[in-house]
Amino acid sequence: MVETFRAMVIDTVDGKPAAGFREVSLKDLPDNDVLVEIAYSTLNYKDGLAITGKGRIARRTPLIAGIDISGTVVESRSAEWKPGDKVIVNGWGLSETEPGAYGRYQRVKAEWLIPLPDAFSLQQAMAIGTAGYTSALCVDALEKWGAIKPGEGEVLVTGAAGGVGSVAIALLSARGYKVTASTGRPETHPYLESLGATNFIDRAELQQKGGPLQKERWTGGVDSVGSTTLANALAQTARGGAIAACGLAGGADLPGTVLPHILRSVALIGVDSVMAPKEQRLSAWSRLARDLDKTKLDAITTVEPMSKLPELAQAIIDGQIRGRVVIDVT
Ligand code: NDP
Repeated sequence: MVETFRAMVIDTVDGKPAAGFREVSLKDLPDNDVLVEIAYSTLNYKDGLAITGKGRIARRTPLIAGIDISGTVVESRSAEWKPGDKVIVNGWGLSETEPGAYGRYQRVKAEWLIPLPDAFSLQQAMAIGTAGYTSALCVDALEKWGAIKPGEGEVLVTGAAGGVGSVAIALLSARGYKVTASTGRPETHPYLESLGATNFIDRAELQQKGGPLQKERWTGGVDSVGSTTLANALAQTARGGAIAACGLAGGADLPGTVLPHILRSVALIGVDSVMAPKEQRLSAWSRLARDLDKTKLDAITTVEPMSKLPELAQAIIDGQIRGRVVIDVT
């Protein structure tokens, strides 16, 4: 085992977050129970915010960035995990309050880990990453609420060509839902069709302020955009339907009314992946293992070295990333 390794570290310079590569020692890692040798991480919108400094993600510095880990246990003081176990960590404050994934090793709490599902390789688990696992949490939430039933109804996915959107389309279409994809990039239509989208709506249409109750179009929706897009999605949801909202790529505001909720019993289900309890995580990952077509997953994945993180972080903030980017930390 090496003693030092290169990591992407967020620091504070002139009162602002600034990220860069730095040599880190195993001794710098926290005294948690399980030492994981990281194989891959991934690039999420939140990682883009952290690395570019566009968002204040790290609440203390210096802190290793990266919110997702796949790797192998090398040391464990927990009876639950032993050396050689293949594991995943999503969220739990990595890159916010806890040192994260963009380096060769990390020491994590035993309760943060879940086993790598047999269906996936370590690389595929990070092709899914927080974005994909959040999509699964959203679909779980919609089905559990009873808003949507497999094989029935039309479901809206916003931010369709992004990470959350792409995996949501693949999961929903595998369950027999008709999926309408909202994207601002018409050139991605063939890609979204290959994932299972059957209809398209220009994202500009959902960004225009509409009436509080519009024509009922969707039984449910997965929204990673927020703002006017989410307000319109709610206003267009049919009686008894629901939108699972997880993101703010278009803004953190919600300029709508209560009318869809009080006149059509439409539900707005909030989805947070970071602190989701373990049983929700296991349920989401077993949905991914059951429903996600690995050929589709491989088709939406690119693998990049850690050295490209600065430019990739800027690209995801600029809305230029299609699908999922795996980061090879070796
Ligand atoms: P991506 O950047 O991969 O995807 C976001 C997509 O949103 C883009 O591809 C684009 O889709 C669309 N978009 C971007 N900018 C705008 C804009 N200004 N107006 C409208 N649409 C826009 O990010 P992720 O999929 O990784 O994450 C999506 C969102 O979900 C982020 O806000 C992220 O923070 C959040 N998130 C939340 C989680 C939680 O736990 N609650 C977990 C994971 C993500 P297109 O080009 O198709 O129009």
